[in-house]
Amino acid sequence: MQINRTYTSRGTSIDVASIGAFGSQFADKMFVMKYNEGLGWHDAAIRDFEPFVLSPASLVFHYAQEIFEGQKAYKWEDGRIVLFRPEMNVDRFNKSAERMCMPVIDEEFFMRILMETTWENRDWIPQKDGYSLYIRPTMIATEPVLGVRPSSEYIFFIINSPIGHYFSEGYKPVNILVSDGYVRAVQGGVGEAKTGGNYAASLRIMKDARKKGFTQVLWLDGRENRYIEEVGTMNMCFIREGKLVTPALTGSILHGVTRDSVMVLARHMGIDVEETRLDIDEVCRDIDSGKITECFGCGTACVISPISGLCFREKIHTVDGGKIGKITQSVYDYLTGIQYGKIKDDFGWIREVTELSG
Ligand SMILES: *Cc1c(COP(=O)(O)O)cnc(C)c1O
Repeated sequence: MQINRTYTSRGTSIDVASIGAFGSQFADKMFVMKYNEGLGWHDAAIRDFEPFVLSPASLVFHYAQEIFEGQKAYKWEDGRIVLFRPEMNVDRFNKSAERMCMPVIDEEFFMRILMETTWENRDWIPQKDGYSLYIRPTMIATEPVLGVRPSSEYIFFIINSPIGHYFSEGYKPVNILVSDGYVRAVQGGVGEAKTGGNYAASLRIMKDARKKGFTQVLWLDGRENRYIEEVGTMNMCFIREGKLVTPALTGSILHGVTRDSVMVLARHMGIDVEETRLDIDEVCRDIDSGKITECFGCGTACVISPISGLCFREKIHTVDGGKIGKITQSVYDYLTGIQYGKIKDDFGWIREVTELSG
């Protein structure tokens, strides 16, 4: 399929100093294509970043048939533009699509869309350590009908947002609140899909957490309210007796690209890795006794977020004095080193974006 260029904007670019809160400003071009049952995907175009005109009856507004992805483009010191393991996002997007009864996108074409859109917005990629262009592929159900069923029409789009650090606190350890009662996802639900409703459902407790002074919430499993799942938009990792432990993917946890990369890098650094069930009471005990020495969240947006302590049932369990752990720091340095071209990529994770890729 041909990707048309219909944009009119030219010459605007990013001023690094003006980058504000995460995802609060946007590159001036976006990718859009449409889907109709029987016709498939059509009318692919890179056009000006502009509003959509949609019927108020569009299915997405009523029943939340929506999925998205989150990835980043980096501009290296030598001017090269790269993506990090983009095929993992493409694969996960199509898995989310299948779960939500939405049409998939040919993987090769998806990669081309990512490359070409990133290239067209290349002047919006901040060239600075810790900064990047956030890429948000999204699909919404647009058929105007109020019956509850899969839509026969969709819009797929990609918008880009120049970003700095995810948390306003920067790379600083934070305490997080363990949810005791509210759940994010259950087995058989849609926790593995990156679908909007998961995040709408998390707002209530996020609001309570903020009021109590916490920026993030740690979710326990939906059945027994006992096993650690994940945090907001991050997967969880602990260092327990020198070993990296992380909750196994049980069906309600999002399969994070960063989680996978952290496990690969840790093993490469000679650290044992274990995917297992983590009982919250046991974890709190191990934190208090010093068996657990480090704790961090990991996700594309925040990369690695050191966690200084867990607040569970009104009691704060501080991890080793609340400082950034040694392993946390080395994993962060290794991962960001690869992403920013400072360390050789021995894993085949980097994909360069060039004009020829378009
Ligand atoms: C996106 C996301 C993650 C992190 O996944 P990455 O691929 O590492 O960015 C973790 N948990 C949830 C709920 C997410 O939405």
